[in-house]
Amino acid sequence: MTLALTGHAVASGIAIGRTHLAERNELEIGEYRIEREDVVKEIKRYHQAVDAAWRQLDELSQRISRNVGLSAGEIIQTHVLMLGDDSIREATENQIRSELCNAEWALQSQLELILSEFRNMDDPYIRSRGEDITQVFRLVQSKLNEEVAGRPFENMPDRLAETMVIATELTPDELATLHERGVAGIVTVHGGPNSHTAILASSLGIPAVLGVRLAQSLLKEGETLVLDGDLGVVYADPDQAILDHYHQVQRDTFLFRKSLEKVRELPCYSTDGEAISLQANGERREELLQAIELGVTGIGLYRTEFLHLSGEASGEEPQLAEYLAAVETLDGLPLTIRTLDLGADKPVDSTDFDQLSRSANPALGLRAIRLCLRDTDQFKRQLRAILRASAAGPVRCLIPMLTSAREVVMVRSLMDEAREELDKSGLAYDLNLPLGGMIEVPAAALAIEEFSQILDFISVGTNDLLQYMLAADRADEQVAHLYDFQHPGVVRLLRHIFRTAQTSRIPVTVCGEAAGDRRYTRLLLALGLREFSMHPSRLLEVKQVITETHIPRATASLTQWLNSTENQRDVSLLQLLDQSQ
Ligand code: PEP
Ligand code: MG
Repeated sequence: MTLALTGHAVASGIAIGRTHLAERNELEIGEYRIEREDVVKEIKRYHQAVDAAWRQLDELSQRISRNVGLSAGEIIQTHVLMLGDDSIREATENQIRSELCNAEWALQSQLELILSEFRNMDDPYIRSRGEDITQVFRLVQSKLNEEVAGRPFENMPDRLAETMVIATELTPDELATLHERGVAGIVTVHGGPNSHTAILASSLGIPAVLGVRLAQSLLKEGETLVLDGDLGVVYADPDQAILDHYHQVQRDTFLFRKSLEKVRELPCYSTDGEAISLQANGERREELLQAIELGVTGIGLYRTEFLHLSGEASGEEPQLAEYLAAVETLDGLPLTIRTLDLGADKPVDSTDFDQLSRSANPALGLRAIRLCLRDTDQFKRQLRAILRASAAGPVRCLIPMLTSAREVVMVRSLMDEAREELDKSGLAYDLNLPLGGMIEVPAAALAIEEFSQILDFISVGTNDLLQYMLAADRADEQVAHLYDFQHPGVVRLLRHIFRTAQTSRIPVTVCGEAAGDRRYTRLLLALGLREFSMHPSRLLEVKQVITETHIPRATASLTQWLNSTENQRDVSLLQLLDQSQ
């Protein structure tokens, strides 16, 4: 009988094969006292374990970067960096000295301390960094106890083709080893969607479902397993209908991927000869590199919340360093830096912004540019960093969540102040740095003509625009059915934005998720959009639809749909657009 188990869908793809239950000697961390004269020896033992862990990870990261790609190696390198953290080393050594305890135990106490802080974080991304830290500590503890810990996966076959490994948890280095042995898919009991293991599985292309609570007790060695990494489901001992369905999905996916490869080299034109610009959303170096490789015309959305969410200083210099690194990676392609968009779905634990927690209705409260205009010192630090980065390469500045034209006037005046300050300090910047605004508030969308006169470019944030138009929280699954891109109101408003922008001769991009969703590409083209910005992983899919779309035909079908009544519409708008081709 088929058994279906669910977990976090962290790395897409379908895998079909046999299970292998990974065994690992669980480390029992005990406390024992050491003599005062043995303290130096114990600290040395600790250092040797850190060095051994470091060598293992560094060697693996080099190998992985060579064989698989830079980004996968970089994830392992972040664990190497954690190993080198001075504050952890000092605290561990101090504890060995003051409490005369063994190194494993001192490490365990430090880990508990760090984890208790992480557990209090609201942000799931930051909370999940706790999993990574645990894995790094465990590695050092296992090096302190190599006889007890044994080598991981000692009994694992060397070749893992068509094998799905089921484990309690996997560290990135273990996952990389399994990848080298050709593993088909992985299932773990622990591990969240934002863990480094999850990110690594995705970048290595290993279908993975993490956090399947009962995986180790319910799955049996050697049974057939279907793993759906897109839905986060595994089917043990699947019946013939499930197997047939997934074999078909595998074949379709293979053909689809092959067809995308053909699109890669094509110029981005619709079949009627319109040139369409493709840009990318991204912050991480590997995202920028992937986007460049796929031929984007620039980065249309570089979000800057991550510096605050990761608890790093919000000072001018750390921000500048991040922006300069991105400018350098882009090597001449324009970088659109969005100013801080904190609040609502992007909460932050920070004393810098204590007003954030006071809003009863955060999505309608003091968020994004509203917050920045409250704390202008903080905001000006970011503007100065953006201006200074513009001396190194083409940079554009983008303001999120504009509501009134007054906000643009205030930003421009703060920019002037920032420029004067830079002039006084003799620091360079681009005199013509373009200033753009995000259209995410319905009233701003209706006032697009006014905004066109005071901005250099416009970017439509459909994620927020739809949430405010449809009064449906973008993160609330209970109202997800109302979050409808084909709603006639949404369609009409978007058409108004693109048409007005065109007559006002102001460039307009969409950088919300809809731009990277191939289901909506034809609709956006029919509505008049000619610049898309999306996550790099979506670029080829969207480009494929563009190169198969005749825009005038799609536009005619859209007009016909808009001029009809609900009763006259016998197919959905998206179907109608597909039929128009
Ligand atoms: C949007 O709202 O569409 C957008 C791109 O911004 P974010 O998702 O960061 O709010
Ligand atoms: Mg937004």
